[in-house]
Amino acid sequence: MTEIFHDPSLDDLLRTLSCPPPGVTADKVQRVAASEFGLTGKAEPLGGERDRNFLLRTGDGEVLLKVANASESDALLDCQCRALAHIARQNQALPVQTLIPTLDGRDWATLPATEGQDHRVRAFSFLPGILLGDAGNDSRLMCNLGATLAELGRALRGFHHPASDHPLGWDLKRFDLLSGLLPGVADNRARDVAGNAIERFVRNVKPEIGGLRAQVIHNDVSFHNTVISLESPWEISGIFDFGDLIHAPLIQDLAVTAAEVPACHGDLLSGCAVIVAAYDQVTPLEDLELRLLPSLMAARLAQGILIDSWSRDQLNWEDDREHLENWYVDTADMLEQIDKIGPGELEGILRSACGRSPRLFPGHDAPRDTDALMHRRMACLGNGRYVSYSRPVHTVRGSGAWLYDAEGRAYLDAYNNVPHVGHCHPRVVDAVARQTATLNTNTRYVYDSIVSYAERIVDTLPDGLDVCYFVSSGSEANDLAWQLARVWTENDGGLILENAYHGVTDAVFHLSPSGRKSQQQSTHIATLPAPDDFRGEWKRDVEERGSLYAAGCDQAIDALQRNGHRPAAFFMDMILSTNGIIVPPPGYLEGVFRRVRDAGGVCVADEVQSGFGRLGKFMWGFQVGEVVPDIVTFGKPIANGYPMGLVVTTRAIADHFEEYTDFFSTTGGNPVACAAAAAVLDVLEDEKLMANAESVGARILNGIEELAQRFEQVGDVRGSGLFIGVELVEDRATLEPATEKTRAIVDALRDLGVLVGIDGPHDSVVKIRPPMVFSDAHADRLLLCLEQALEML
Ligand code: PMP
Repeated sequence: MTEIFHDPSLDDLLRTLSCPPPGVTADKVQRVAASEFGLTGKAEPLGGERDRNFLLRTGDGEVLLKVANASESDALLDCQCRALAHIARQNQALPVQTLIPTLDGRDWATLPATEGQDHRVRAFSFLPGILLGDAGNDSRLMCNLGATLAELGRALRGFHHPASDHPLGWDLKRFDLLSGLLPGVADNRARDVAGNAIERFVRNVKPEIGGLRAQVIHNDVSFHNTVISLESPWEISGIFDFGDLIHAPLIQDLAVTAAEVPACHGDLLSGCAVIVAAYDQVTPLEDLELRLLPSLMAARLAQGILIDSWSRDQLNWEDDREHLENWYVDTADMLEQIDKIGPGELEGILRSACGRSPRLFPGHDAPRDTDALMHRRMACLGNGRYVSYSRPVHTVRGSGAWLYDAEGRAYLDAYNNVPHVGHCHPRVVDAVARQTATLNTNTRYVYDSIVSYAERIVDTLPDGLDVCYFVSSGSEANDLAWQLARVWTENDGGLILENAYHGVTDAVFHLSPSGRKSQQQSTHIATLPAPDDFRGEWKRDVEERGSLYAAGCDQAIDALQRNGHRPAAFFMDMILSTNGIIVPPPGYLEGVFRRVRDAGGVCVADEVQSGFGRLGKFMWGFQVGEVVPDIVTFGKPIANGYPMGLVVTTRAIADHFEEYTDFFSTTGGNPVACAAAAAVLDVLEDEKLMANAESVGARILNGIEELAQRFEQVGDVRGSGLFIGVELVEDRATLEPATEKTRAIVDALRDLGVLVGIDGPHDSVVKIRPPMVFSDAHADRLLLCLEQALEML
């Protein structure tokens, strides 16, 4: 009776899916139960994809009657029955069904069918409980699920049956065979993401399958085959349906559960990490298994899309259309999430959840000697000794919100804003690589990308701001803005905020007291007090504080005048980063802009830090007020790290400037820079990163506000979107800045694997400004580590 199958075809797999559940009535089954099993009661039909299931209520309790699918051989049924018996012998605590034999000791009763294969009826103990799919997304429950699955795998380790490697549509190790179903997926998005999953499976998983430990696995511990206890809803009280039991890589079992259960809750990332970590506690995962797990999880979700879309056509599942549509959207969302973060990053998250250090990558396989590199660096670089953190981080690779050091350690990057849409975002990498290989020239030649990009940026800005100049850095952009302002106004004075920073060119250096060691200010520059409503003269309880701080502009204009200058321009970093991250209070920008213009100057919004949706609510920082600048400057995040700066101004200012100079910047806005910058805008839009910044930023702010109730040193939490400052104080009454403690916290976080920065006039503000792809799960990790760091103080 044993049949062994090797290398089945797609048709073999589909045959296992296309055979409908046997047409047996409740009456008939009820009669068999009585005559063959000695069980009397009323049979009620239950659901089932391939088998026909009934619940039989007898005087002694409930029994599950299962009429097997005609496509399953007797050998396969035997395999399932033996496996259950084996599990019961190995681990009695596992909540699996027990087979109830017929009165004469057989595993199943045979019921002659009118045509084809006779029906085979088995009786099992019934496992009551709440279906996992109807339970909440409780981490204790997910933890138990992972651990129970691992125990089940352990119990099956020594089990062998010749029928266990049978053709099965739901066999992940043969997922690539289903690629023939891809063209039939009607929904474009679902087809694309499923296609990506196939490609990754073929590339990453297929060549390695032979090296994975394999055994008989359940292969479908999921939301529809698992129940939880009514009394303790975090405990698994039943795992049933051994119909997908198969000999396969052990990791396949985990891939099914870790992908499907969290996907059913719409929370793949945090859910799967809990399940995988709990599994790993019972059965430590091998490196290769952890590496392939993300691609296998994606494959499982895609397998669902392919099989369900095929079944819908073949089996006319019209009734369930609405349910299926929703399911499609949810699964495609999950696959998109995996595509977005990339299997490499997901592997990093899973490894870190399992307490493993990140995998070393080819080319970075030997730990580097960071000390020796620091020595060489100091010998050959002018500013070589300036590095972040007391123990420098020796970076070798980045991906999404993660950086990796030379020893393969992962750091959650909650600081770097230049990789705006995430480190090495594949769309930016691809855009840069393609354009580098196609054309890179300068603006004296005509090419499309610079024009299209300029049009796109201008579209995001208020009317009037419609002429672009491309340069290669934020400093250059501010330098050019300074020139534009001076030519336009014919004045030569500059207005800035105290402790401002605008860059490194000679002209801009004078506008950047925070970047200088000497506090001496040139006479053509005057500073305005920062509208610091935490530490300054007027606090948040003063409603008109915005206009009170704005009046400080009058003294600055007077100071310029005393030195014989009139203002050409007022420059402002719209989130006041170097002043400790301050959102300008209501009325402030309006008050200052009016005064500057009345004195003959123009207003420059420096969006190098605050722009491109970082503040969550607005695309640009100046939109926090009811103002329109005369000049806006951009840099840093604009092209995700490819050097680029941009100045946008009015037609009048630009035309006047053109009479004075023939401005040309060789690398500014070259085709590669424009390709990178366009990709950044595409990703921002497609991945809805501005909305992400708003919601994840709010989560971080709320989380830190909660910490502030426990930790006295947290004096203030403020910011907008994914630009957050946490000001530490020695004393909440005197507001004495806790400079040393700030350094200690930032260093402690670095050691815990989370990167943040320091800013503010007293170096007492923890600066949180992560890539815009920072997720809720990243935020929770940041909060957890910040809590630990505060506890260490
Ligand atoms: N303006 C602001 C507000 C900045 O923060 C910076 C850089 N930190 C610059 C301008 C200068 O940009 P870059 O270093 O790219 O020249």
